Amino acid sequence: MPPEPAISNHWASVRDHARVFGELIYVYPVISRRSAGLSIGVNLNPDKRCNFDCIYCEVDRKLPGRATHVDPIQLREELMWLLQYARTGGLLEDPKFRDVPREIVTTIRDIAFSGDGEPTMIPNFAECVAIAADVKRNEGLDQTKLVLITDAAGLDKVDVRCGLEIMDTNQGEIWAKLDAGTEAYFKQVNRSFVRFDRILRNLLQTAQVRPIIIQSLFLKVHGSPMPDAELIAYCQRLNEILTGGGRIREVHAYTVARPTPETWATRLEPQELQAIAAHIQSETGLKTRAFP
Ligand code: SF4
Repeated sequence: MPPEPAISNHWASVRDHARVFGELIYVYPVISRRSAGLSIGVNLNPDKRCNFDCIYCEVDRKLPGRATHVDPIQLREELMWLLQYARTGGLLEDPKFRDVPREIVTTIRDIAFSGDGEPTMIPNFAECVAIAADVKRNEGLDQTKLVLITDAAGLDKVDVRCGLEIMDTNQGEIWAKLDAGTEAYFKQVNRSFVRFDRILRNLLQTAQVRPIIIQSLFLKVHGSPMPDAELIAYCQRLNEILTGGGRIREVHAYTVARPTPETWATRLEPQELQAIAAHIQSETGLKTRAFP
């Protein structure tokens, strides 16, 4: 993979991460700062199902989903088509991508399982990973990563573990969410019925097998950033993964970028996020990148 290019916050495609592209149901292109370029999203949850209900979630669940399940044949066709379309410069015809340099909008940095819900909830996760790996191989995209963006709740499922093993041999990377250090704050921010200790156990067991990236969203709740005690607890959770034999490649700290369903869930200022990232790095020794 070539060195990471500079991505501008001013590009329309960086500001607009709509998970819809034409008539496609399952795949969509975005320019992502965390991917350092063009990411082809694979929406495994067109039904918008999630086992979290984050106070900052951008998914509009008042509108119905576009499909109730993932059709593997259609997923393969759509992914093949979009990869070829993007690589040959087709996205430059779209006003949203016109201000992006050609080498960035034609270089596929990753294929990311993401979308309108939690990818590990679907019953055929491993099948979908196998399809993406196969299409990627057929396209000769040996440098392109396969990324799973997950809330970690389903990482202990047998089918999901099979999917992770396929990812491991196809430039796979797991970006796992951790927004809290305590059960109470987890319930406040992620509003999930899943127990926090299951999330932590899944993170540990997954990181014991391969290195993972922790993705954490920090924000203000009713005007207050994460309390100091919570940030200390959060760093302790990361250190527990490390002392338990888990490997964390890096931590991505980011904040709210778009309108939230709860008006009292608001973004941090860049310097506030930078300060949190610096604190995490000093308390854990982990490379921590802030995406203000
Ligand atoms: S885990 Fe993701 S999709 Fe689910 S509620 Fe949270 S932000 Fe939304």
